[in-house]
Amino acid sequence: MRIKFWGTRGSIPTPGLSTLRYGGNTSCVEIRTSDNTLIILDAGSGIRELGRSLLSSSKGSIEGHILISHTHWDHIQGFPFFIPAFIPGNQFTFYGFRNFEKSLEGALAGQMDHVYFPVRLDQLAAEIHFKEFDKDILTIGSARVSYYLMNHPAVCLAYRVDCDGTSVVYATDSEPVADDLDGEHEQGFIMFAKGAYLLIHDAMYSHDEYQKKRGWGHSYPEYAIRLAQAAGINRLALFHHDPEHDDNTIRSFEEFSRAYVRISESSLDVFCAEEGAEIAL
Ligand SMILES: [Zn+2]
Ligand SMILES: [Zn+2]
Repeated sequence: MRIKFWGTRGSIPTPGLSTLRYGGNTSCVEIRTSDNTLIILDAGSGIRELGRSLLSSSKGSIEGHILISHTHWDHIQGFPFFIPAFIPGNQFTFYGFRNFEKSLEGALAGQMDHVYFPVRLDQLAAEIHFKEFDKDILTIGSARVSYYLMNHPAVCLAYRVDCDGTSVVYATDSEPVADDLDGEHEQGFIMFAKGAYLLIHDAMYSHDEYQKKRGWGHSYPEYAIRLAQAAGINRLALFHHDPEHDDNTIRSFEEFSRAYVRISESSLDVFCAEEGAEIAL
């Protein structure tokens, strides 16, 4: 299994010279299994570049499976600009949960209403399917996908993808319920993520910033590190960077996080997710 970060930012795209290293596109991560199944985690603005890459590398039609954590705009806003969806013969399936009164399909169609965008969802030439989870585990090609409900002001899912003898957990947009992990939510998450090689986790704020933004649905590095250590994770990618944070600030998060891990004498490899970075699992 191989993963690539196409968008690492939270809330809103942040292009510019001060975000070149960690990237300005909103959430999108590509997973490729060894049998070449394409799984896409979220459809933030990063999915536009992924679409261009798919078009330049694929010879025949393209089939992809798009797991949506939740339908806040930064996790779906790139899809109207995903060119493979405009091409007949391609096929994409969305997976997720309904959010409040809107179905997954309704939320995706909403942002492509004619008031906001010239092409409606049902006018796309590719075949588009929607699957809302009705059981705990589903199979996509050779991958096994499970989910866990996160603490966020929306119905938001973390995903675990097990394939090729390894696993990745994608847990963005998530706020602590119990900072010391001593509660049902955190203990359940630790069981869910247990033994995964890579955890991609929300760390939008510093701990100090978090004190002023409780209830906004996001985490800080020390919390993500403690979760990763408790779940026996090998590598932790801090993700969903705050649009207010430039490369220097995010680099300081990374340095702080590595020092925090060193003090706790663990072998966890922690880093801040960089747009364009690839990881072989
Ligand atoms: Zn978000
Ligand atoms: Zn959100």
